Amino acid sequence: MPKSKQAARANLESLYRIFTVPEAPDSTLGAIDQAICDDVAGFLGTHIVALERTLEDIEADFLSPVIPEEPTYVSEYTEFVKQKLVAQSVHTAAPGFVGHMTSALPYFMLPLARIMTALNQNLVKVETSKAFTPLERQVLAMLHRLVYRADAAFYPQWVHNSQHALGAFCSGGTIANITALWVARNRLFAPAGDFKGIAAEGLPRSLKHLGADGLAVLVSRRGHYSLGKAADLLGIGRDNLVMIDTDADNRIDLDLLRLELQRLKSENIRVLALVGIAGTTETGNVDPLHAMADLAATEDCHFHVDAAWGGPTLFSEKYAPLLSGIERADSVTLDAHKQLYVPMGAGMVVFKDPTALSAIEHHAAYILRHGSKDLGSHTLEGSRPGKALLVHAGLSIIGRKGYELLIDLGIERARHFAEQVRQHADFELTSEPELNILTYRYAPRAILGLMKTMCLAQKCQANLLLDQINQLIQKVQREAGKTFVSRTRLRSRDYGTKVITVLRVVLANPLTTDEILQAVLEEQLTLAQHPEVRELLEQIEALAAPLSISQTSTED
Ligand SMILES: *Cc1c(COP(=O)(O)O)cnc(C)c1O
Repeated sequence: MPKSKQAARANLESLYRIFTVPEAPDSTLGAIDQAICDDVAGFLGTHIVALERTLEDIEADFLSPVIPEEPTYVSEYTEFVKQKLVAQSVHTAAPGFVGHMTSALPYFMLPLARIMTALNQNLVKVETSKAFTPLERQVLAMLHRLVYRADAAFYPQWVHNSQHALGAFCSGGTIANITALWVARNRLFAPAGDFKGIAAEGLPRSLKHLGADGLAVLVSRRGHYSLGKAADLLGIGRDNLVMIDTDADNRIDLDLLRLELQRLKSENIRVLALVGIAGTTETGNVDPLHAMADLAATEDCHFHVDAAWGGPTLFSEKYAPLLSGIERADSVTLDAHKQLYVPMGAGMVVFKDPTALSAIEHHAAYILRHGSKDLGSHTLEGSRPGKALLVHAGLSIIGRKGYELLIDLGIERARHFAEQVRQHADFELTSEPELNILTYRYAPRAILGLMKTMCLAQKCQANLLLDQINQLIQKVQREAGKTFVSRTRLRSRDYGTKVITVLRVVLANPLTTDEILQAVLEEQLTLAQHPEVRELLEQIEALAAPLSISQTSTED
């Protein structure tokens, strides 16, 4: 019997074999595996096909809620994977896929991920991870040092300290942000005298203890939605995640922030944390971190910096100063599956004070014993994979200088692309790239000129039509599958702070060339010739027409 067909009968012998006998290289699964090992990019390029199927069509392949009764052949299942899953996936590694934060991976991640899977360590406790626990602690120390630049003498006493951890490794920026605010909350309501702390007594009694009527977290309007989840989960309430408007450069408006702090004080609402963003998800901008650190010090509240995207900018000697002030944060979130080029599912939060994480410490009798070095006592998640290996691999193989090159390349490419957009008569740059993210929209100069003559109401109307045009272009481009940009909605000061639809480009894939970006714009110009787009442009022109009549009539 071919080895790929070994699991087709529900008997113990077959089951025993799937745990012991490896797949033969000439089997369907073995062949795919080999192809991926030989040339990932080639494999993805050939097997992910831009089928013109809608998601609803694809759902038809995944309808049945019935768990198969009988075992099936591995080869048969592999055919399903090839045709229904791989073929209908998104080619996130393609150099023309510049719409999201997910890009190509260095080749060594794949075999190392395999080793990680084979070892199947569980980082919740030393008993199931051994060397992986010190490895993860070392990775946390490396990122801690990247952010805080403490001198080398600081680390020996903390890295492998059984009482403490310099940070928490987790599945991504969301959990990292939640962990940071969880620590901030538990430190604000730390045990004192008869009060046993919020972890024991809960929020209502904790507020009473502080004599406060509520809690608030402040962040700019560009704050990531994970903070909303954190506010909900930690009992702060989404309404008390105060989103402050941004200035023209998508950075938190400090005057508005100060006003809001005063208002909260007058309402006896305690500020739990200020959150600065180092690389906003939508536009890649960095908040004024020094000024925010000053305010947090005055308010005596936690200062968190969400550097999920922008953190690795610190590798670049040239651009690290853009994040100046981050070293004053009490906690910093970093996503490894973004600009550290690690596969999906790796993030970290590091804390300036190496004892901070004790605020969320949990112990259990059979694991996570007091005095053990188990990392599970300081993480939200329980069982966790050995992803730290992949971060360690990137840091070791690519190194500080390698990441520096990648960061510099992305930022410089974004600036170059922004210049191309700015020069182009048919596009409008809607946010300057500070790091490697920029936004723009299709808006021919003639149309923008016409809009200048319009009253605010007409401008808003015209913007709605431009929104439709850009939505259409983005959607058709995505469906055509050659290149991909994302779209988002941003407030525009030019239009009475109304929201406009913009195209968003994230430049982190080193294989994305200027030529590919040129092709992205050209494809959009071609799509703009579509009759539907022309029709919408005419509607904008028509909006301007009555204005010139009314202008002449007022001259009468
Ligand atoms: C991506 C991102 C997050 C969330 O990270 P996940 O890994 O998706 O959970 C949080 N903040 C910022 C600024 C991000 O860019």
